[in-house]
Amino acid sequence: MSYDVIVVGLGAMGSAAAHQLASRGARVLGIEAFGRAHELGSSGGLTRIIRLAYFEHPDYVPMLRAAWDLWPTIQAEAGDEQLIQVTGGLYIGRRGSSVLDGSLKSAETHGLAHEMLDADESRRRFPAIQVDDDMETLHEPLAGILFPDKCIEAHLRLAERHGAALHFEEVVTGYSSGPAGVTVTTNRGTYEAGKVVIAAGAWLPKLAPELNLPLRVERNALFWYEPVGQPELFERDRLPVWILELDEEYAFYGFPSLPGQGVKVARHHGGQTVDADSVDRTATDADERPVRDYMARYMPLASGPRLDSRVCMYTNTPDFHFILDFHPDDDRIVVASPCSGHGFKFSNIIGSMAADLALEGRTSFEIGFLSIDRFASVGGPSEVGRGLGVSSS
Ligand SMILES: Cc1cc2nc3c(=O)[nH]c(=O)nc-3n(C[C@H](O)[C@H](O)[C@H](O)COP(=O)(O)OP(=O)(O)OC[C@H]3O[C@@H](n4cnc5c(N)ncnc54)[C@H](O)[C@@H]3O)c2cc1C
Repeated sequence: MSYDVIVVGLGAMGSAAAHQLASRGARVLGIEAFGRAHELGSSGGLTRIIRLAYFEHPDYVPMLRAAWDLWPTIQAEAGDEQLIQVTGGLYIGRRGSSVLDGSLKSAETHGLAHEMLDADESRRRFPAIQVDDDMETLHEPLAGILFPDKCIEAHLRLAERHGAALHFEEVVTGYSSGPAGVTVTTNRGTYEAGKVVIAAGAWLPKLAPELNLPLRVERNALFWYEPVGQPELFERDRLPVWILELDEEYAFYGFPSLPGQGVKVARHHGGQTVDADSVDRTATDADERPVRDYMARYMPLASGPRLDSRVCMYTNTPDFHFILDFHPDDDRIVVASPCSGHGFKFSNIIGSMAADLALEGRTSFEIGFLSIDRFASVGGPSEVGRGLGVSSS
């Protein structure tokens, strides 16, 4: 059987693309190497931050508004599982830091609701985080938590409801273009389609080596803790999701205490470069040390017994912006790699944009800054980008 579109990878982006394509009437085949909403790629770890005053670049804000509008629709269509929870957000740093200045720039450029808090006010309102005297906090009301496994499962269920065929535990081994369409080969068979969307996450460099993308797959560890005291300070009504930029290399981020989980704290970037097939999935004491050091200084009450840990992978570009573009050799193939550690919140709208590109050849969103040809002069695997990776210009 021939399909209109084959989606390779059914993680955050692929599941959303499969849903969007199928809901528009396309005959869709989705192929996933592992199981449904698994934790072995970039989407594990129970929670993801969604926000609007985007420090990474103001150009993401229109996409974010669309994503915010779409998540409740996905939730309502998919069933009774809660996909999103609004908590507000705190973006903390010194003047001149990417997180603080970048968030403020996006908020001002797009007229987003926000307030600026000096250190005293920040500590008074949100005492779980003891910010330094020379730090400031941008507080925005429209930020919160996405539950990634539930979001992916919702997209998968909706895709199936709209007639998509989804194959799990099947590995795509290659693809090739011909006059009639694109042929996708797997460890189980061969399939034909008019179009292909590649959403292979951390495996993209292996699946599409011909693109010679300057991607760096980075291992990141996540931790959950039981507070040592005053647990009420970490509840949802007292602690929004937060990001604190420590210096130009690293930021830390986290979530309020969630039932059955505890307080999640992690470092943004700073992980080793890894191969997606051989990454060490056990968090070590060395992984935890920077998080403990951070908590000792800024969140001492959070630093109780470790309740849980996970290892996840970022797929970083040199400028930390996403990739969403046609394959340079064949515009019947769409390449979607929205990660660099901040893509999940966009996954619903990226799925929609990937469907636009596959079915209509264009999308109404401004995606020039996500093009593949911006790497033309870079090429090859990148060691660039150990730092925070933000450009607020
Ligand atoms: C620790 C961590 C924290 C993060 N925090 C946030 C956050 O707070 N907010 C936010 O917005 N974003 C966050 N992100 C980023 C976000 O999670 C990623 O951008 C997103 O998960 C990427 O989705 P994806 O679909 O590209 O990758 P994945 O969800 O990993 O999906 C790729 C899929 O492709 C499959 N695949 C690969 N190769 C093949 C093949 N050959 N055949 C078949 N299937 C294949 C894989 O098995 C996988 O399921 C975080 C990421 C990490 C790792």
